[in-house]
Amino acid sequence: MHCKKCKDHGSLTIRKEHVYCVNCFMINVNHKFRACIGKNKILSSNEKVLVCLTGGQSSTVLLDLIYNGLLQDSHKKLRIIPFFLHLTGFGEKETDHKVAELVINQCKSYEFNVYIVNISKFYFQKSNTLPNINNLSETNTEEDLKTNLKNILNKVTPTSSNDIEMKIKHDTFRRVAKECQCNFIFTAETTTTLAVNLLSNLAIGRGSQVEYDIGFSDNRDEIKILRPIKDITEEELHHYIQIKNLPHISVDKIQENSLQSVIKKFVWDLQENFPATVSTVCKTADKIGAIEKSDKRCQFCKSSLASNNEKLTAMEATNFSRTVSNFHPGQNLNETRPIESTNEYDSSMFPFINKYFCYCCSRNYLELGNQNSNLFKDEK
Ligand SMILES: [Zn+2]
Ligand SMILES: [Zn+2]
Repeated sequence: MHCKKCKDHGSLTIRKEHVYCVNCFMINVNHKFRACIGKNKILSSNEKVLVCLTGGQSSTVLLDLIYNGLLQDSHKKLRIIPFFLHLTGFGEKETDHKVAELVINQCKSYEFNVYIVNISKFYFQKSNTLPNINNLSETNTEEDLKTNLKNILNKVTPTSSNDIEMKIKHDTFRRVAKECQCNFIFTAETTTTLAVNLLSNLAIGRGSQVEYDIGFSDNRDEIKILRPIKDITEEELHHYIQIKNLPHISVDKIQENSLQSVIKKFVWDLQENFPATVSTVCKTADKIGAIEKSDKRCQFCKSSLASNNEKLTAMEATNFSRTVSNFHPGQNLNETRPIESTNEYDSSMFPFINKYFCYCCSRNYLELGNQNSNLFKDEK
């Protein structure tokens, strides 16, 4: 077995066919990371970037790749000024603490500082005060419990819960980035995660947002989310972690019994038996874009809202058939449901759709119930 690059003895087999020696493998992974940033030409020199860490495999590798990049000299140097963030407030307090401590230690080993931010404080309570660096601040006030993300998400189906959590996280990333004066955010999705996200997006009604959710750059907002390790697979991550013996934890935020968890299982099986398929899925997604974009944005996920179109959409067809089936003889069809709600409570099947929310966020809003949904309305 010879390394396909240097013809030396190879010890790693990627995708069941490509043999590498450890050295060439590491060079290749570093190259994928740098090439992804380089070819997209989005970052100018010494750009401030907020790097979001979870302590999981992909986040751990991203951190190491950034450190390596900053160490390089002259023209090979990665020219960014990184700020690091880790969000807490997702699970049990104890687990939360354990993970946060690991992330602090990971950062310390590279002499980086990290902000540990509680998602309830920043998202629901609209705090914009950054905590002290490397500090696990206590959060257990009445207000924290009331706005505990887990308690709120318990009320919805696992599929919606996964979706809402992801959107809340992204919004919090942007809020923190703003406080750090970063115009860019790095997140650590791999090819494999993005394939799962792509198929999930299609399944839950976020098909028109694939471009933002799966591509290199999510430019829904002025603060852009970039995915610099999107060309690296879970298999490569796994080898990277083993070779460098990097401490990490296994974090899986996808809730069981959801569309996303079923799709994840499907993609992982696919990767096992047909390894090339997963990257093909993502490459196809890279080419998908919305036909028309309006300036009106969804208040929750910031995607552009559909403008009025002459063609009947599936959503409108569903709404129409619902109206018709609720229709009693002798009743004026327009009485069943006002077309445009005049007050701020919309009880239709797709509340505030295309007014405040996109299709999927409107469904989430409905599922959360009126009381909790208020938490999601932007006060801007
Ligand atoms: Zn080699
Ligand atoms: Zn939305």
